[in-house]
Amino acid sequence: MTTTEPDTSLVEKLVAANRILYDQGVVDGLGHISVRHGTAADTFMLSCSRAPALVVARDIVCYDLDGNTVSQTDETNGRPYLERFIHGEIYRTRPDVLAVVHSHSPSVIPFGVTGHRLRPIYHMAGFLGSGSALFDIRTDVGDTDMLIRNSELGRALAASLGARTCVLMRGHGSTTVGNSIEQVVYRAIYAEHNAKLQTQAMALGEVTYLSAQEADLAAAANDTQIGRSWDLWLRRVGKIEG
Ligand code: MN
Repeated sequence: MTTTEPDTSLVEKLVAANRILYDQGVVDGLGHISVRHGTAADTFMLSCSRAPALVVARDIVCYDLDGNTVSQTDETNGRPYLERFIHGEIYRTRPDVLAVVHSHSPSVIPFGVTGHRLRPIYHMAGFLGSGSALFDIRTDVGDTDMLIRNSELGRALAASLGARTCVLMRGHGSTTVGNSIEQVVYRAIYAEHNAKLQTQAMALGEVTYLSAQEADLAAAANDTQIGRSWDLWLRRVGKIEG
């Protein structure tokens, strides 16, 4: 059997990203982040089923786009995340996507159940562009436990995401995509911040969102600044022991 082992140039950063997403309140015991393999583009790297704040380098496993394990694992590796199909099917349909975060971050949840798009309320969320996508699992398969448990559901989610950066999942959470670990972490954090602020603004009255052009310009400007935030987030999670 041929195997694809984790891309060592990305493992440390992926572990740090897991810790950062917990520290920043995006994930708790659940939620996950993956990155497309640097040299085997039809595989991605994701922790085994572990609380993100507890992930270490040896937890990182490679999967093919169908969600099958393709790297060697041992007894220290737990079972895979049930929802790894979110990642594989988005990587399959979006060649531009190099990293994916799935979370149940709380401020986003009300949007998914009311049909309101997340829209950029300030420059930090310019990546939201003309708004988030919405996925309703019931539309595709009727009543379920709400989880993306197989490739079919992953494909339906990826179709709902379309070309956008963020898809809300009714009664469940959201999934955010980016072109690097740093960018997707930034987007997941600011999707949560934007949701909280948008809820506050909507309660006050009519909201003026960034225009599509403002959103694009702001997103491009922010992309050049992510490193500054990343360094701060990294400092907060401290030295990572393997
Ligand atoms: Mn989930």
